[in-house]
Amino acid sequence: MVNPLPPQVHVLVRDWLSANNIVLQSRDGHVVVDSGYVKHEALTLELLASKYALGGEPLVKLVNTHCHSDHMGGNAAIRKKYDCPIALPEDEAPVVAQWDTKALLLDYADQTAPRFTADELLRRDDTHVWGDLEWRVVAAPGHDMRAVVFYNPEHRILISGDALWENGYGFIMPPAIDPLALAAARATLETLAQLDIRVVIPGHGDVFTNVEPALARAFARTEAFEAVPERLARHALKVVLTFCLLHRERMLLSDLPTYVDSIGVFRDINAGCLQLSAIELADMLVHELTRTGAVKQENGWLLPC
Ligand SMILES: [Zn+2]
Repeated sequence: MVNPLPPQVHVLVRDWLSANNIVLQSRDGHVVVDSGYVKHEALTLELLASKYALGGEPLVKLVNTHCHSDHMGGNAAIRKKYDCPIALPEDEAPVVAQWDTKALLLDYADQTAPRFTADELLRRDDTHVWGDLEWRVVAAPGHDMRAVVFYNPEHRILISGDALWENGYGFIMPPAIDPLALAAARATLETLAQLDIRVVIPGHGDVFTNVEPALARAFARTEAFEAVPERLARHALKVVLTFCLLHRERMLLSDLPTYVDSIGVFRDINAGCLQLSAIELADMLVHELTRTGAVKQENGWLLPC
């Protein structure tokens, strides 16, 4: 495939535990969007130092689309190495300043990230020049109510974070936990559908140009969630458990009921939406994740696939 991006835009495609790192090169100084999960920070630094990214040159700014652990977990390490300012969506900044670990889905979702502070705010509708390109900050609440995406009208590029992937988007909190989230996700998709987008750089997965079908899938998924909000609860918990499993590498199946009972996001979503016993909840999650091939069971252990 012909590279659909201008030559100064480089995407380090990562995995589910670490979000993609986007490098916007310029003679005026390079900018990086999103920093990955803390577990992979050494790899993130190595990739950023490669000739495809910064190649030993300074970094003038680190930017986050939103402050989930897989997007900002490398912030502290990158700042330590490059001594660069960090720019955050304006609504994320106070949450990061307080280091509200529940709102940031850290210990609340059995995740972790080294603490850091913000230096600059990204206000919605402001335009920033990064990598010699103009990027408009577009509010993108839903998966994260404080998230933004970045849009370049000249090349019609969207840096979408977790607001739009080729197949879906980041999990949404069910109405019992956040009554506004699903409606916000739909409104964000409608905003994105209004933009003239040629290519999307998602937070996870490859860069894609089939934007219309991706939006159609995202709308269809939203409709399915709206029809049966309980699906949202199951989906969110499956995504969080899969992430935790990648982070922990393996979990004892026999520990799982105690685990889901001890982690806030499982407890709250279960109490608000599913009302299963801890054993039933653990069984349901293992069964559904095994069926879809996200996890496997081996000698009493649950492993990621
Ligand atoms: Zn996210």
